[in-house]
Amino acid sequence: MRRALYPGTFDPIHNGHIDIAVRASVLFDEVVVAIYDAPPKKLLFTTQERLDLAQQALEHLSNLRIVTYTGLTVECAREHKVDVIVRGLRNVADFEYEQQIGWANAALAPHIDLCCLFCNNDYAYLSATILKEVASLGGDCGAWAPPHVLDALEQKFDRPIRSSGPKIYLRHEDKLVHRD
Ligand code: ADP
Repeated sequence: MRRALYPGTFDPIHNGHIDIAVRASVLFDEVVVAIYDAPPKKLLFTTQERLDLAQQALEHLSNLRIVTYTGLTVECAREHKVDVIVRGLRNVADFEYEQQIGWANAALAPHIDLCCLFCNNDYAYLSATILKEVASLGGDCGAWAPPHVLDALEQKFDRPIRSSGPKIYLRHEDKLVHRD
């Protein structure tokens, strides 16, 4: 049984994250998405909110579960008995960051390997930071996150999300979800 950990902040989960989680769930027998509860950056959503949003976004994946964690990612990986840590790569900056963290993690836990997946080209520019900024300024971000995440952003910023894009996101087995 090959079990992978997909750690991150997920503040909030968006289509780039979902794409990696879906692909990891195909590559591995079991995927544990791990939401880091206290990263050294300002968060918009609480840990519980990030967990709820991720759970709703990924509930269709039967071999994937979601946990939250504090402390070292490798300790979380040990706790959940994973063989591999999965991360997504958008560009050279991500590569350099993941390479450094990956080597540090390998020094701490040599038995845990790193698997970096190139992001979907459609989401190469997408980050949670950009999603939040565009949402807060009333820009059109309807194609970047599932409907319930857009609803949550709407509530946080107390303004409607503009969404003239396709208003859909791709789920496992090509099931499309529409936002009314
Ligand atoms: P972190 O703070 O650990 O980078 P993030 O929530 O920003 O947490 O990202 C979690 C993981 O998802 C990271 O591996 C990141 O590179 C990846 N990721 C972020 N945005 C995208 C995207 N648009 N496409 C694919 N992977 C992404």
